[in-house]
Order: sequence, then C-alpha cells, then structure tokens
Amino acid sequence: MSQPSPGPSLASRSWPRCGEDASPENPIGCPGIHVPGHTRCLAYLGDPERDAYLAGLTPGSDIDHRGTPFTGTLLGALLTRLRDPATGHPHLGDARFTSATFNGDAGFESAVFENGARFESATFKGDARFESATFESDARFESATFDRAVSVGPSVCAGRVRLSGAVFGGPVTLLFATRRLECRRTRWSSTAEVRLRYATVDFAHAVFEYPLTIAAEPDPFMVANGRQVAEDLVASAPGPEVRLASLRGVDAAHLVLSDVDLLECLFVGTVHLDQLRLEGVCTFDTVPPIVHWRSCSTFTRAFSSQPSPSSRGGPEPHLGTSG
Ligand SMILES: [Zn+2]
Repeated sequence: MSQPSPGPSLASRSWPRCGEDASPENPIGCPGIHVPGHTRCLAYLGDPERDAYLAGLTPGSDIDHRGTPFTGTLLGALLTRLRDPATGHPHLGDARFTSATFNGDAGFESAVFENGARFESATFKGDARFESATFESDARFESATFDRAVSVGPSVCAGRVRLSGAVFGGPVTLLFATRRLECRRTRWSSTAEVRLRYATVDFAHAVFEYPLTIAAEPDPFMVANGRQVAEDLVASAPGPEVRLASLRGVDAAHLVLSDVDLLECLFVGTVHLDQLRLEGVCTFDTVPPIVHWRSCSTFTRAFSSQPSPSSRGGPEPHLGTSG
C-alpha cells in the first residue's frame, strides 16, 4: 500500500504514530494514529483486532483516523459499521481524518457528520464523493489534495465550509447551502461548478486554470428522488442570496459569476477583470467620488459589454478600494 509522504507538517502532528513500513526513504513510516488500545493504525491492525474495533462502533461514534492510509475496502468497512439501520446512511460523530490518505475512491455519499468533519491536509487519490452529505458543524478540508474528481452535495453545512489551501486536480462540483465558504489560496486545475445558497464566499488568491463558475441557486436543492434538501441547519441565515467577499489577487480570466452579490467584494489585485463573465443579476456598490485604484479603468471596461447595472435596476458598478 502506498503511504502518504511525510510532509513538512509532520513534526507538528501530535498524535501517536503507527510507524509501520518504515524504510530508509521513509524513516518515520506510517503516520496513522494508533487505534485506541493498540500501537498500530487501522490500516495495519491485524484482522482480528480490526474486526473487534469495527464491531465496537455504532452510528454516531466518534472516529479518529488521522494520518491513516485507507483503501476503498477499508473505508467501506468503517462506514458500514456507522450506518443507521433505519436510513442506511453513515452517521459519524466527531470525525477526524486529518492528513489521512484515501488511496481508492472515498465514498461518503449521504454521510451525516454530526460533530465536525475534519479532512485537513488529507489526500484523496481517487474520486472524493460527498453527494447528499450533511455537515452539522464545520466541514474542514484546508490544504487537502484532491487528485481526481470531487463531488460534494447537494449538502447543508451548519458551520463553515473551509477549503482554503486545497488543491483540486480534477473536475469539481460543489452544491452547498451554508453561510460561509472559504476558498482562499485554492488551486483549481480543471473545470469547477460551485452552486450555493445563503453563502458568503471568499476566493482571495485562488488560482483557476479552467472555467470556474460560482452561482447562486434560487431554489432549494433537490436530491435524486425529487425531495427538497432540508435547510433547517441554515434557517437562521438572513436569506438564500450569495455574496462574494473577496477576489483579491485572483486572475478572473476563467471566472463566471451568476446571480452573485458583489456589493462588499474586494477586488484589490484582481487581474483580467475584462474577461470576467457575469450572468444573471450581479449587484455592485455605487461608484465612490474618488477612486485611487489604478486598474479601475480596466474594471469599468469589464462591464462595457454587459447590460449596465442601472438597466438591471441596480446601482452603478464599483470597486472596493480598501485592502
Ligand atoms: Zn499505520
């Protein structure tokens, strides 16, 4: 089984490591956390010990498999033990997969994360599938690496969806009802579609190499059986509108925005605004009396080919000048 390479963050990993399969090239060995009561991670436990551990899990159990390398089979065995018999959906309590490696497809379809989903610095070598997953607290994927396709949602997240620093190597679909989506310093190496409700979105210093669409979804998401996705978890949010907080430092050449509120958006350092594509109704702030930002003329040109905001019933376009 291939092991995650010990990255620079290894020293900061505080959990007791399994250390199996050490070699001159990888002297630290497997970074998986010990299964409670053992000195190996779930991947390297003997079959009887692994079966006994899995047998002790019930739907909603807390899970801590930081650093652990998963095959598709091992992840399937884990999630099977967490399935609610009434719905067939896996229920995870406090789910910690920080720095784990998923060597096969990671199938978390319809999973319910009851108390935080932690996948920071995890590596997904196959497809990452979180269709219809529910996040009752934060969904944390900071600095995760997705080598292949990613499909999340339609999902509701009661906390923040935190993707900052993540690297996406394949096509991405994110469908989320959530109050906050953080995508600072993300890298997107294929096409991506981000459809949202209720969210304030931060894409500061993100890098897109292919078209990336950020769109507001006017109606509640539907799942395959025609049922609406329940939005109780975000019911206290002001409204389903989607606001862009920042495009700082972004090359907008591949960016498509649809029905997004740009009233508070920071554009400092954004380039190729003339190639930014706007669809539907995107609202802007009013023009300040004095604009000091050098590239404002570029920004103004960006809208010369669009229906003027006033013709759409909105105010004149404006660029935030603060940093
Ligand atoms: Zn291990």
